Amino acid sequence: MEENVNTHSRPSDLKITDMRVANLRGAPFRATIIRIDTNQGISGYGEVRDGGSPTYALMLKSRLLGENPCNVDKLFRKIKQFGHHARQAGGVCGVEMALMDLAGKAYNVPAYQLAGGKFRDRILCYCDTPTRQDGREMGQLLKERMERGFKFLKMDVGIGLLRGVEDALIAPPGMLESRDVMHPFTGIQLTNKGIDILCEYVAQVREVIGYEVPLAVDHFGHIGVESCIRLGKALDQFSLAWYEDMIPWQLPDQWQRLAEAVDTPVCTGEDIYLKENFLLLFERRAIAVAHPDLASSGGILETKKIGDLAQEHGIAMALHMAMSPVAALASVHCAAATENFMVLENHSVDQLEQWSSLVEGLPVPLIEDGHIAVPEGPGLGFSGLNEEVLRSFADPDQSEIFGPTDEWDDERPHDRLWS
Ligand SMILES: [Mg+2]
Repeated sequence: MEENVNTHSRPSDLKITDMRVANLRGAPFRATIIRIDTNQGISGYGEVRDGGSPTYALMLKSRLLGENPCNVDKLFRKIKQFGHHARQAGGVCGVEMALMDLAGKAYNVPAYQLAGGKFRDRILCYCDTPTRQDGREMGQLLKERMERGFKFLKMDVGIGLLRGVEDALIAPPGMLESRDVMHPFTGIQLTNKGIDILCEYVAQVREVIGYEVPLAVDHFGHIGVESCIRLGKALDQFSLAWYEDMIPWQLPDQWQRLAEAVDTPVCTGEDIYLKENFLLLFERRAIAVAHPDLASSGGILETKKIGDLAQEHGIAMALHMAMSPVAALASVHCAAATENFMVLENHSVDQLEQWSSLVEGLPVPLIEDGHIAVPEGPGLGFSGLNEEVLRSFADPDQSEIFGPTDEWDDERPHDRLWS
């Protein structure tokens, strides 16, 4: 009889038997999709944060084998010590997505249901947009996105636009070329001329796109908080949706200063791991928009908790996302289940058809009318990965798709963090 009935799974006997990876490039960046297999023939998918190492996920394999993936929180607590900020959380978060996918498949419910149900049926998306040196050209690019149905936009405005412009920037030798010196330590300052040029750039964009849709701004460059405040005040007249990552998230005092000085929402969070690290910013009301990337922040359930914590402090939640549809759909379920969610990022709108085709069983393109419909299928909501499309995205340096990972089966760990 059982052969003729879809019982999906016997969740209480479900056990993890394997974890394998597929390394991608160009979807839109470098990323790793992970697949967790079980003793009942169902598999769950997750994704390591763009740019992160597959090792971050594979080193967790020995800690997960034999465990029941439906115990999502228990397993998350077991492995979360192996995550850290930014890319280093990629393994823990990718595993959490795969566990939510598996638990949803085992119980035949969508992942959002495991997070408490949904507040909305469609998730508003905003598109990142490649930089143009000319404001009118940038405006046209954004206008094209609006014509394609996007209702929330983002662009870059920063010192990158002032390179080679005389008297626009002041910097100590070598600092304009530095990549790894934090903002307060570069000594780079904007001049009034530099600020005027950036204001003119935004004015030109606004002339083309008007004020019909929200427009967020990112990538200001590694300038100190004083220059950020001067620029922020000058840009306030354009009613931008938010100023993103003007300074590093690790500096809550400076964020508080910035938030108090400007009249535009300020936003950070894409590199923060775990809710307690957002709390430092929330308690000071140092940001208006929390911007976790759930491939860094702790996965679906932890990011819902971050959203709930933000809400209690009067702070909205937008979601950063620059990955394949696997992480995008994990973000969709979290967004559906979090009341103060505002908008979800997408970096693939210029290759939307091919990007969307990576997953099967959902509309292509995945984004329609500027929204992703919340899938109602079990787990993350897609039926599988399209192998041909997956191969087209395979990283030429590590092109084996879901090959054996037996070398990660055994470790001799002593993971306890206390004596
Ligand atoms: Mg950003």
